[in-house]
Amino acid sequence: MTAPSSILITPIHVGDLLAEGEVMPIYVHVIDHPDARVLVDTGMTELHPAVADLDPRLHPLTEEGFDLDTVDMVVNTHLHFDHCGGNKLFTGRPIYVQRQELDDARSEDEYTIRDWVDPPGVRYVPVDGEFELLPGLRLLPAPGHTRGTQIVVVDTGERPLIVAGDTAVWFGELDKPSTPGQLLIRALNPELVWLSHVHEPWRPAR
Ligand SMILES: [Zn+2]
Repeated sequence: MTAPSSILITPIHVGDLLAEGEVMPIYVHVIDHPDARVLVDTGMTELHPAVADLDPRLHPLTEEGFDLDTVDMVVNTHLHFDHCGGNKLFTGRPIYVQRQELDDARSEDEYTIRDWVDPPGVRYVPVDGEFELLPGLRLLPAPGHTRGTQIVVVDTGERPLIVAGDTAVWFGELDKPSTPGQLLIRALNPELVWLSHVHEPWRPAR
């Protein structure tokens, strides 16, 4: 199905990490669809000793003037700590994640901050493969960064818009794709791709 043309994607800057001396922003993305407001990833909301060396500087969603109650559903691209730290804010709302990712985050050591994956009251909807979340809004498995990573594809009728999490951490990984997830994104011939750790969306070279 094709999405209504009024779908809007808004990035929200929820913090910065320091990775190998470089400041790496953390973004989450709000997708306003006529049928629902969808939040893709939830960033971080607190510090944790396990990631102190990344010197997180947080602007959590709770302080962004963003009304959490307006979110109808959440999608996690994957469950690394900088993508699921705010899941606890969305109890009572379905959180869509690939089953593979949920299994890995719950079972593999040093995968994420385990306490942030399953705080009290958080309810996941495990997804197996491709899933149509809303008309014109699809979840697609895009392995590479993690084997359970998924992307959100907005089919606008022409070229899709994509929210890709860490499928690519920086633009070079989409310029020269190598993982299955990166190759999938390029094969979809998107108009633009929002990443979690870059300020601007990636666009293919003309
Ligand atoms: Zn990340």
